[in-house]
Amino acid sequence: MSQLSDLDQEIRVCQRCILAKSRTNAVPGEGPEDAAILFIGEGPGFHEDRLGRPFVGAAGQYLEELLGRIGLMRSGVYIANVIKCRPPANRDPEPVEIEACRPYLDRQIELIRPRLVVTLGRFSMARYFPGATISRIHGQPKRIGSVIYYPMFHPAAALHQPTLRPTVDEDFCRIPELLTRLGDVREEKPEPPQAEQLSLF
Ligand code: URA
Repeated sequence: MSQLSDLDQEIRVCQRCILAKSRTNAVPGEGPEDAAILFIGEGPGFHEDRLGRPFVGAAGQYLEELLGRIGLMRSGVYIANVIKCRPPANRDPEPVEIEACRPYLDRQIELIRPRLVVTLGRFSMARYFPGATISRIHGQPKRIGSVIYYPMFHPAAALHQPTLRPTVDEDFCRIPELLTRLGDVREEKPEPPQAEQLSLF
């Protein structure tokens, strides 16, 4: 068993927040353990909760279609979410739920070590682009060390609002270029640790 599959098991039995009570299945994520690209969505919806797999509903179909357009298959990338359990009635995740799940996503990133992290929607964007607004920064990559972070609208947003589709299609089609031109993406220095993260000893 790999460290990532151990982590999956841990997530599947997680009881860290209230969402554990209403979920059918936790959804750790899936993909190759050494994937170069990691997509991070928001959280499982109805179908994902039923199957325990990420992006298997309409948004997932669209994501697969987009991947196909750039010559990738879903099985070639890692797909995860900010929260691993479905909120009742697909409500937005609460800050306390996002915090409870944070160590899981952090650990996934540490183990997979992707070169490109694509954030899908505002909840995953908020993690790497704090204070930003998605309509302003979508499609604008930033680099921290050797990892590129690339914010995009959530595919579900484009399904609900068809006028967004050309934007999503266009942002998505830049992914291959980002991977080959890693060095051209502006580098941002990592944030200094927040006060509460500083240890006294
Ligand atoms: N939307 C998400 O953000 N994640 C999923 O897994 C499915 C839909």
